[in-house]
Amino acid sequence: MKIVCIGRNYAQHAKELHNEVPEKPLFFVKPDTALLTENKPFYFPEFSKNIRYECELVYKINKVGKNISEKFASKYYTQIGLGIDFTAQDLQEDCKEKRYPWEIAKGFDSSAVVSNFIPLTSLQQPENINFHLELNGTTVQIGKTEEMLFPIDKFLAYVSQFMTLKTGDLIFTGTPAGVGSIKIGDRLVGFLEEKEMFNFEIK
Ligand code: ZN
Repeated sequence: MKIVCIGRNYAQHAKELHNEVPEKPLFFVKPDTALLTENKPFYFPEFSKNIRYECELVYKINKVGKNISEKFASKYYTQIGLGIDFTAQDLQEDCKEKRYPWEIAKGFDSSAVVSNFIPLTSLQQPENINFHLELNGTTVQIGKTEEMLFPIDKFLAYVSQFMTLKTGDLIFTGTPAGVGSIKIGDRLVGFLEEKEMFNFEIK
């Protein structure tokens, strides 16, 4: 499986990183070795001094799709979860400056935290989902699907022109404003509506 991540999908977050708001979706891919599940701790890696959290809604693809049309895109997922796209900010800044690809900053082991998945039908308003992230008990990020620049169906239509989506692939849908750095001893707890989805420690 692969993990496809949308970048700059919330205007406020693009602004806080001083990025332009994109006209087309921007995406990158993490390998399956990036997955971190079941509330396992995240071990701060030695190659970075500044790891940034980005809390994101994650959709799980449930069938193979190529050139998906936006109209039928909702048939390609039934489950949603919450995740963290960990980013080595120092390495990413270096990559951006040199115009290198981002893999070392985004694709490292355990950089894709994912909760368990729940059926979209279990949500009251599956087309309008709220989520938030707490860092050591304080809410640091609040997001809602209606603020996405490229909603999931539009994104699946776009990305599947280039890459076939397969059963089990995960789509990280970008992060709202409020990203920040983590340190050893921190605890990150993510909520989808009022439901706790993940709760883990930085070690
Ligand atoms: Zn992200």
